[in-house]
Amino acid sequence: MISAGISKGTRKYVYAREGYRCALCDSTKYIQVHHCVKRSEGGTDSVENLICLCADCHAMAHGMNLNDWQDVTREDIEQAVVEYLADYYAPDWNPWRAGPR
Ligand SMILES: [Zn+2]
Ligand SMILES: [Zn+2]
Repeated sequence: MISAGISKGTRKYVYAREGYRCALCDSTKYIQVHHCVKRSEGGTDSVENLICLCADCHAMAHGMNLNDWQDVTREDIEQAVVEYLADYYAPDWNPWRAGPR
């Protein structure tokens, strides 16, 4: 789930940006760094493509509904992640960017 390609510094930066909480639900439970765009789909290890999620939101982002949430789908989580990051890095947010700007 977590790429070995993320540097320690990048990971720290992302945690700090989110205030050491889940970016979506503010939980501090087992926060993990998640790729907004999967690396297999061209996502990068840059902070613009990374977000801190708690274990529950992270599982949902990967399509695993641990808590039997009735009304939240993987698509909802993906959408929320995109909106969160786009807000931060608008107007030129592009997690698919292959190289440096
Ligand atoms: Zn969460
Ligand atoms: Zn993930």
